[in-house]
Amino acid sequence: MLSIAARRLLLAIVALASSSCAQLPRSAPTATEVYAIRYGTLSNFPVASLIAGADTARRLDVALMIWLVKLPSGRNVLVDAGFYRDKFLQRWKPSDYQRPADAIRAVGLRPEDITDIIVSHVHWDHMDGLDLFPRARMWIQRAEYAHHVDDAGRSRDRAVDSLDAAMLGDLRRAGRVQLVDGDSVEIIPGIRVYTGGRHTFASQYAGIDTPSGTVVLASDNMYLYENLERHVPIAQTLDPVSNLAAQDRMRRLAGSERLIVPGHDPQVFARFPVPGGGVARIR
Ligand SMILES: [Zn+2]
Repeated sequence: MLSIAARRLLLAIVALASSSCAQLPRSAPTATEVYAIRYGTLSNFPVASLIAGADTARRLDVALMIWLVKLPSGRNVLVDAGFYRDKFLQRWKPSDYQRPADAIRAVGLRPEDITDIIVSHVHWDHMDGLDLFPRARMWIQRAEYAHHVDDAGRSRDRAVDSLDAAMLGDLRRAGRVQLVDGDSVEIIPGIRVYTGGRHTFASQYAGIDTPSGTVVLASDNMYLYENLERHVPIAQTLDPVSNLAAQDRMRRLAGSERLIVPGHDPQVFARFPVPGGGVARIR
């Protein structure tokens, strides 16, 4: 039997421990939360590179984004990781730029808090930042990996930059790459990935179960809201017919059309203005 004094001490310790837990800014949410996080802008981007057949005179300041899913289980899942290597910064000169690992501070997270990263496809502006997140497990389609990167970590084609291919090879050797086999796979409870967008060989997008309904994070399988609203394929696709079919499918998967999040549209932050400061809560 504990003495009364010892029991009081124990109760005080338990109370202290639970109150300090409640105050942790990184505590898991009670229901799944989805955010778009902006880490930069590419100014004057030709819209004809995004929307098939668009007027070649049109220009748009496109948003550079990553997406975050905070799960009640405590896992913090990114969709894509942006870029940070000098080579790309020098060539593309983004404005309002911050490293993706710094951009997640706006939602109270540190790079080591990211547990998983879904790699939508191998392009530099979505994959280059993977190694900024030291504890994350990477989820990429097996067919995407095999088509664009060889077993020695060399790029097989121009879709993937040689530096990024080498990095992905290193991550794989370190046991941090999980290859996903095909379409409609629930890789994490509440998160399912889909193929067929054909932005690259086996580009994938994600459907997230949330209290508002399924949120679809399209990444570059749908660049802008305009693709969906005018029913036009993306300009950079291996197969426009498949790309349109994937966009139609996103409509069926999503809880509502407004919950489909395009890959580079600055409108995301106007349609979802909360909490602001380059962060959009999707719900
Ligand atoms: Zn891309």
